[in-house]
Amino acid sequence: MDMQNTYLDQLLEAGLLFDTGIDGLYGRSGTFENVIERFEALVTRYGSADGAEVIRFPPGMSRPYFEKSGYLKSFPQLAGTVHCFCGDDKGHSRIIECLEAGEDWTGQQEASDIVLTPAACYPLYPLIAKRGRMPEGGRLFDLQSYCFRHEPSKEPTRMQMFRMREYVRAGTPEEVVEFREKWLERGKALITSLELPMDVDVANDPFFGRAGRMMKVNQRDQGLKFELLVPVNSEENPTACLSFNYHQNHFGHTWGIETSTGAEAHTACVGFGLERVTLALFRHHGLDVEKWPASVRKVLWG
Ligand code: AMP
Ligand code: ZN
Repeated sequence: MDMQNTYLDQLLEAGLLFDTGIDGLYGRSGTFENVIERFEALVTRYGSADGAEVIRFPPGMSRPYFEKSGYLKSFPQLAGTVHCFCGDDKGHSRIIECLEAGEDWTGQQEASDIVLTPAACYPLYPLIAKRGRMPEGGRLFDLQSYCFRHEPSKEPTRMQMFRMREYVRAGTPEEVVEFREKWLERGKALITSLELPMDVDVANDPFFGRAGRMMKVNQRDQGLKFELLVPVNSEENPTACLSFNYHQNHFGHTWGIETSTGAEAHTACVGFGLERVTLALFRHHGLDVEKWPASVRKVLWG
């Protein structure tokens, strides 16, 4: 058995996660959720003085907005869409027949207006644009959402449904770059306070296909994405627990977001993988939270 299976098995045996029959889709215990809650409170402590506007979107977003966002150009392999039955009695009978015969019944489904949110910030940009030209100093948001990515895996850190806490900044290039620098430092301090080993490195998103190769190279060369990595499944392949993304004018251009002077806005976001940080804590401090170092417990529970 490999290491990845071992850690997942330990989490299931300890009752921290619950099997649902699908890789990357788990139930969470009260203890697991409590750690997530306390970690989120810690993030809020680091970010609260900035006065971000808090918004919580549901884990589904508008399909038209999703189509316009460009996600399907870059990551078609990760997207998840919501389909529903919109037929009549005949269609219903067909579903029942298929189920009874053990055949595929999903042909009766049609795409709905909702897709699963791929990253917490995707529903935000059209909302910023709709409010019109931004005030001087731009805008800052505090988001959290369940996200979906179709990447089934036995690694507990690679889930299909997981939560992302984000701060998102929209403004001038200077404002946005300053925000990202500030959160890089805060992220390191925060993870250090939890006594987790880490490294920060330049990274790239998993852009799809042949065209995606160039996009990966560009993203790395321009230093648009950084990740804070913590070894969880293995020492050799540490896990990205936080990410720091500078989108330049991508979303500003796509949605027509304007700064106070009418220029195309730049945006950046810092994302905290809530399950990943929690899994890193259980990995390094043990599966019993009562036995975690007193110093770590104090940071989380006060
Ligand atoms: P990304 O948009 O890929 O930078 O993701 C933002 C954060 O979400 C990452 O830094 C991870 O901590 C977390 N994350 C991304 N993909 C997954 C996944 N499949 N399972 C759990 N957490 C994830
Ligand atoms: Zn984001």
